[in-house]
Amino acid sequence: MTDTLIPTRDASLAAIASLSLRTRLFIDGGFRDAQGGGRFTTENPATGKPIAEVAEGGPLDVDLAVAAARRAADDGRWSRLNPADRKRLLIAWADRIDAHREELALIETIDSGKPIADTVSFDIGETANCIRWHAEAIDKLYGQVAPAPEGIVATITHEPLGVVGAVIPWNYPALMAAWKMGPALATGNTMVIKPASYTALSLLRIAELASEAGIPDGVLNVVTGPGASVGEAIGRHDGVDCVAFTGSTDVGRRFLHYAAEGNLKRVLLELGGKSPQIVFPDVTDLVSVAANAAIAIFMNMGENCSAGSRLIVHRSKRAALLEALEVEVANWPVGDPLDSSTRLGPLVSRSHMETVLRYIASGRAEGARVVLGGERVLAESGGYFVPPTVFDGVRNDMTIAREEIFGPVLSVIEFDTEAEAVALANDTPYGLAASLYTDDLHVAHRVARDLKAGVVGVNAYAEGDQTTPFGGYRLSGFGGHDKGVQAHDQYTETKTTWITLRSRP
Ligand code: NAP
Ligand code: MG
Repeated sequence: MTDTLIPTRDASLAAIASLSLRTRLFIDGGFRDAQGGGRFTTENPATGKPIAEVAEGGPLDVDLAVAAARRAADDGRWSRLNPADRKRLLIAWADRIDAHREELALIETIDSGKPIADTVSFDIGETANCIRWHAEAIDKLYGQVAPAPEGIVATITHEPLGVVGAVIPWNYPALMAAWKMGPALATGNTMVIKPASYTALSLLRIAELASEAGIPDGVLNVVTGPGASVGEAIGRHDGVDCVAFTGSTDVGRRFLHYAAEGNLKRVLLELGGKSPQIVFPDVTDLVSVAANAAIAIFMNMGENCSAGSRLIVHRSKRAALLEALEVEVANWPVGDPLDSSTRLGPLVSRSHMETVLRYIASGRAEGARVVLGGERVLAESGGYFVPPTVFDGVRNDMTIAREEIFGPVLSVIEFDTEAEAVALANDTPYGLAASLYTDDLHVAHRVARDLKAGVVGVNAYAEGDQTTPFGGYRLSGFGGHDKGVQAHDQYTETKTTWITLRSRP
């Protein structure tokens, strides 16, 4: 988190009154209407009221955006810039995002329901940080020279793929886009991005800031519109060389079909999760475990792919940990996301709230007990609020323990032995994140090694930071990772150049 002052609700309301929202497609350096002329409404999930009408793009707009990105890729205006110049432009863009942090945070909050305290101090700051971090690496990464025979010089270099498509979810609208844009643009690709329809506004403004920072026209294009038309058109487009997707496993699978039926573009998928948090019997500081467990499941209203939604706790600690959780939940006020003390805003939409409430009903029907939360709150606001909800007495074969809920719903599951804890943790089709709590070095290393997850936090809930790769095992991911310098390679082709030297005359 970056150290920033969170605006008061009154200051935010005043700033919202003077916001000028960007609502049209951003193609080839400028805004334009969708060719079909359509628009769709985006609403504020804290009130259920509309905020703006956004251009509803379609396949023809994707064609236009890909053509612009293709021209920019092929004429080298971006890929052949001096690495130091590409770095400078991306850093100038990151600086502009930072300079517009309050404005972007407000846009993100009213469009998605995320608390202003999070969007100001985390989402937008990390978006700028991610772009800057990848930019700083550009002129510090080297190719290789192979150990070739005498008379040969063989180089191994990385070249941009060309046009990278990206399709983004609504849970961290700006940041998930940055996780793709940072490494893909740093390595010299151009892009066509589709934000989620619930939360399209922040990326349109961020793309405009790229242009203002001097990033050439056509390098970054944003097409808003439904997944079933714009997303599929990007996934199937022969002019797109790679598609990077973050979202549900079901939609992720479709991108593999799109690519297989077309140009075999590279497909990178970051998908869902059902992440375990294991609490071993030697742990004494249950207050700290409860604080971490709450972050793991209630942060961002549980709308987090790596949410720690299964708390797998040793039988001897279950009752005490539940008490500590009950105390901790008081630190997670639900309310207006513009209120600086709110930690849980609304869920992103009415239909998503209804899905989460259906899962809560299924937990009750299958015999688990709600010990905290469990009902919609603040309905009079018109918003879609679900409070921190904890189920006790969950078995790992219940629906709430198997399916990704993507809401603030925690399942508490008991275990007796270390082997049983590991088996329960791994008994899921997913494998994104996991955490474990123990002071025993041997247990920590053994279990961290045994967990089938891309990120394992020991004695804290952790997703790593900008320097560490993020991605999942099994149904949680495919083809690559976000973040870290490792993310650069996946947006490049590897080229061998084999040079035969003539003998000295
Ligand atoms: P989603 O329904 O899969 O949507 C993600 C994106 O795909 C949206 O932009 C959506 O467009 C688009 N889309 C929908 N149908 C499509 C289709 N047939 N073809 C192409 N694109 C299509 O997921 P979500 O509900 O937005 O996000 C929640 C999911 O994302 C969860 O499963 C979560 O775990 C996962 N997630 C994973 C990570 C990670 O890094 N692993 C991070 C965040 C979220 P529209 O919505 O505009 O129609
Ligand atoms: Mg919205």
